[in-house]
Parts: sequence; C-alpha cells; structure tokens
Amino acid sequence: MRKYNLGIDIGGTSIKIGLFDIDGNLLEVFTLKTNLRDHGRYILFEIASLIKKKVDFQEIKAIGFGVPGPVANNIVYSCVNLGWGRKDIASEFKEIIKDDEILIKVANDANLAAAGEIYKGVASGYSNCFMVTLGTGIGSGVIVAGRVVDGINGVAGEIGHIHVDDDYNLSCNCGKSGCLETVSSATGIVRLANEYLKKSDKPSMLRKFPYFSAKKVIDLAKSGDELAFEIIDKAMNYLGQALAKVSYVINPDIFIIGGGVSNAGDFIVNLITKHYYPLVKPFINHTNFAIATLGNDAGMFGACYLVK
Ligand SMILES: [Zn+2]
Repeated sequence: MRKYNLGIDIGGTSIKIGLFDIDGNLLEVFTLKTNLRDHGRYILFEIASLIKKKVDFQEIKAIGFGVPGPVANNIVYSCVNLGWGRKDIASEFKEIIKDDEILIKVANDANLAAAGEIYKGVASGYSNCFMVTLGTGIGSGVIVAGRVVDGINGVAGEIGHIHVDDDYNLSCNCGKSGCLETVSSATGIVRLANEYLKKSDKPSMLRKFPYFSAKKVIDLAKSGDELAFEIIDKAMNYLGQALAKVSYVINPDIFIIGGGVSNAGDFIVNLITKHYYPLVKPFINHTNFAIATLGNDAGMFGACYLVK
C-alpha cells in the first residue's frame, strides 16, 4: 500500500530527504552529500539507492523534488550548482526506480521554501505569500492561491534581478547591472557599504575594517553607527520598493524574509516596512511581514507540500 510521500531538497552541497506520512507528518529525515562528479550524473541514482535502503518504493505515493534552478512545467531548465542542464527529473527517476505509477513533481527550491513556510512554518494558514531570501544572492518564491507559481521560464518572482538602482549600477552575476541583488543581498549590502565609504566623509567604525560582512554593517547600524545605519536603510529601501511593486501584482497575505540577513529580525523588518507602506497606501493598509522559521528544512517541507 502506498502510505508515504517524500519531500526531497537537492542542494549544491547536501540533499535532504523527508519521509512523510500521507497526512503530511514528518516521520524521518535522511541526508546525503551531493555528488557533483561528471555534471551531477549520479545524484538521482544515489537518492534512489538511499531511499531503497530505508523504505520500499511500493509504499511511496508521491515525491516532490526541490532544485536550485529554474523549473517550469516540471522540467528543470538548468542547475548550474549541480552541473545540470535541461532535465526531466520525473521521467528519469521513474526510470531508475522502475515505477511508473508514482507521482513526481519538481519545483525551484526558493519557491518550495515559500511553500514550506505555508505548510509548516510562519505562513501557516495563508494561501498567498511571497518569500525573499537575503543571502549571497536573493532568492524568491511565489505562492498564489496555494499554488507554486513558476512562469513560462521558471523565473516568476525572481525579484533579485529587477533593476532598482541607477546611482551605483553595480554589475550583477546575471550579466546586467543595478539589480536588487547587487544592493540588498548580504553581498549587496557589503558592496553598497564600500560605495558609501568611498563617497562619504562621515566617520564610521566600518573604516577600521579592511573587510567586513553584512552582519557587521547591521550590528554597527543597530549600535548607533550613523553611516552603517544609512547603508542598511538604503539597502532595505531598495527592497521595500521592490516588495511594494510585488504587492501591486499579487497582493500577498504575507511577505516572508529569510536568509542570513533575516537573522537581524525586527530591525530589518521595520526598515523594510518603513519604506514599503508609504508606496502602497491607500490601496493596501495591511500586509503581514515575518521572519522565516524553517531555515534549511523549508525546501523539504515545501517539496512535500507540492505533492500533498
Ligand atoms: Zn541580476
């Protein structure tokens, strides 16, 4: 009897496999190091063989996969971190496990992180949500009416590459410049800080460090360093403006903020909302903002939500 679902989050360094009962309760988690050899060709085989050691495939009803790259219509477009180009995971995995009846769905990991937060995290009970992950880059996930939104090329909601800045016009990994990611991600905050240090004469503790992290800028801003505060305020101004635009498109119940920068908690949320609300009133009087709660498990829960 098929009595389990699996939520699998494939990351660039490790893979998390959650075994869920049909009601969506997490029973067990298996982890695996991501084998990147030969353009990641062994990844699906190794996932299948680990699962086989733990549970009979005949007992599995559905599998959700989360991958670090764009996905549309269940097809992966590319996962640079894994060495994958276009890939039909569902067909390949069914072939590996010799089971055609199993339901397999695939989605982008940032979208699944948003789904995970709706399923078991801070957005529980909501059906329209937008999640933004502020780390090395900016990841984002969109859920509308309870469904993950991919778009035709899998880039729906990828606000990290919305053009927001003409003042510094910093170059972005995507090949363009002035993207939100270049000024509001953790890396972006450091880049913005270096621009401020060049153009301003204001004293700041930041000048004492040859290199510093986004966390250092945030900590100094919290402790009253005026220039550090200006930098973070500007970074969150860009983000608040971008989220205001998102609101006019999908009007979410809740914005979820995740990633390393979100460790600053209410301090960051208050800065974002300070810049967000003046741009959406009088149409939008209330949108919830919350810090993500599931951390690295969000993708695994989201992958289960996808097939539940
Ligand atoms: Zn970009």
